Amino acid sequence: MLCGCQFFNKIFLGCLFFLLGGCSSSHEAINNARNQKITWDKETLPVVIVGGGVAGLMAAVYLTQAAIPTVVLEGQKPGGALAQSHSVRNWPGICDAPGAQLVESLKEQAIKGGAQVLAAMATAFNFDQVPFTIEVESLVNGSHHQTLKTLSCIIAMGREPNYLGVLGERGDHGYWGRGVSDCAVCDGRLYKNLDVVVIGGGDAAVQETEYLAGIAKKVTLLVRKDAFRAKDIKARDAVLAKPNVKVLFNVDVKEIQGDGVQVTDVVIHNNKTKINSVLPTAGVFLAIGARPNTALLKGKIELDEHGYVVLKEGRETSVPGVYAAGDIAESGFAQAVSAFDAGARAANQVKKRLDALGYVSFESVK
Ligand code: NDP
Repeated sequence: MLCGCQFFNKIFLGCLFFLLGGCSSSHEAINNARNQKITWDKETLPVVIVGGGVAGLMAAVYLTQAAIPTVVLEGQKPGGALAQSHSVRNWPGICDAPGAQLVESLKEQAIKGGAQVLAAMATAFNFDQVPFTIEVESLVNGSHHQTLKTLSCIIAMGREPNYLGVLGERGDHGYWGRGVSDCAVCDGRLYKNLDVVVIGGGDAAVQETEYLAGIAKKVTLLVRKDAFRAKDIKARDAVLAKPNVKVLFNVDVKEIQGDGVQVTDVVIHNNKTKINSVLPTAGVFLAIGARPNTALLKGKIELDEHGYVVLKEGRETSVPGVYAAGDIAESGFAQAVSAFDAGARAANQVKKRLDALGYVSFESVK
């Protein structure tokens, strides 16, 4: 395994080029999709995965199984969103474990397979021609910078939930994972016969409320305006008709409070009457939107109006050879298992593309 601090030294590059090796100094192929001649040299990687969460690591596991030298840039949040969860109860075959531990074992699996998982982040992409280039900055070596050339790329940089930014939400004295969550499917069952609140007025808030209404004693939906934003009116009305669902409009959450262990209540402010009150609750579910981490991809691949990656064929994006996996391409139901699936499928498409280009893996040139 190469650690991040070795990333930019010559040994790393030397090893990698040996693995990529082959005998001749350059190869070429015709990319049928664009009818463009692609040439690559021994410095060109077959694949770079950008993102070290579940999707990226799963893709790495599949690619290394196929003996394809694989580089993963794990980014600023190794392990991605799942690593932030204190207690994961929907990982296949594991009843309950911290997310960080689960992703670490996936990373270990990828590394044992031969993946180079680097503490580094992509800072710019150029997909205009193949080989693509990715500007990379080491996260351990300060300003060290490198340009990687690659025949394919899997984008798996995830998405970031929106946060309220109030006291008691996150941080050392916050209750994230101890009553505050952004995933009812993941954490809902902890609130059987308890009172919970859902914050938000969009389709996700309706969906979370619907799920929790089947478990919790009472769900109070806190909407900051005097109307919902949710577009699925039928679903919204069905949820609101449930006897254990109540809606409070014009409500801002000012603070999440607890007893040091668990959430006990939220301080809410009615922005019409200007009155503050305390609402007892065991759980706080945020459904206030999310932002896919696609700022660097604007103008490089097609994104939808919310910034999510648009998929064309399977996991392939608008640029042939560039694939996307995980939450960065999921505006709705985003789960670890769907990220697994997407990572595996993206890896499979990369393999097919490399085969079509006539890429020779290091296993074959030994
Ligand atoms: P949306 O952006 O649609 O809604 C976010 C909601 O959160 C809005 O009501 C917004 O309020 C509220 N909000 C934002 N910030 C705060 C805050 N600080 N405090 C309180 N409330 C806040 O996000 P969703 O995640 O709901 O949906 C994202 C996309 O995915 C949408 O296009 C949606 O239609 C789609 N989706 C579809 C589903 C389906 O079809 N079943 C299910 C889930 C999502 P305000 O309105 O005041 O701005």
